[in-house]
Amino acid sequence: MLIELRNISKSYAEPERGESVPVLRDISLSIQPGESVAIVGPSGCGKSTLLNILGTLDEPDAGEVLFEGKSLHGASAETLAALRSEKIGFIFQLHHLLPQCTVLENVLVPTMALKAKADRTARAHELLKAVGLDHRATYRPAQLSGGERQRVAVVRALINEPRLILADEPTGALDETNAAALTDLLIDLQKKTGVSLVLVTHHRAQAERMGRVLQIHEGRLA
Ligand code: ADP
Ligand code: MG
Repeated sequence: MLIELRNISKSYAEPERGESVPVLRDISLSIQPGESVAIVGPSGCGKSTLLNILGTLDEPDAGEVLFEGKSLHGASAETLAALRSEKIGFIFQLHHLLPQCTVLENVLVPTMALKAKADRTARAHELLKAVGLDHRATYRPAQLSGGERQRVAVVRALINEPRLILADEPTGALDETNAAALTDLLIDLQKKTGVSLVLVTHHRAQAERMGRVLQIHEGRLA
């Protein structure tokens, strides 16, 4: 088991209504190494909340998160930060590339947080080549198309050889052709590297390409 959620619940306070609103209710889920999983559901149903809990960016109110069999309950911020930088790659709807840095520098940003600093430059070039962007290594994000920027974000997510990729609507800002190409790329890389992939998407067709599709309905998995 790579990651497991046990009876997770999460609510957000709504000051205007003076009450807390449940978003996730008693969710249990496990993801195996090398597995691909889609999370679907209407806007506001809790997909990002679930993904952020899987990525230790957010904490559940109740329940437990286990990563590689170890409970993260009570883990320090430092421990979680190290876990994220070594084991988890994130891709968001917006690329979040640093505008002042080159493609290569952006890809290497996650390596700066690592304790053991192997030179990742060769790997960065290899991955950029794999996504057809090595000839853009010295470009800045503003000089790239939207599809190219997201491909750089994919490479950045993979640079530290993570066990898990969490992608929150990574194709949400792309046109249909680029969206399909990015999904192809993610699936291809997931198969080649054996990383687990959790993809939040609005597109049923993209979701169906994952090994498993989970739908959030009224805070529960269907
Ligand atoms: P989705 O990604 O499926 O669109 P989210 O997980 O972002 O949904 O949000 C689920 C619900 O939780 C929404 O109603 C949203 O308004 C609420 N929510 C999300 N984050 C916060 C927050 N930090 N504070 C208060 N409410 C939040
Ligand atoms: Mg969301």
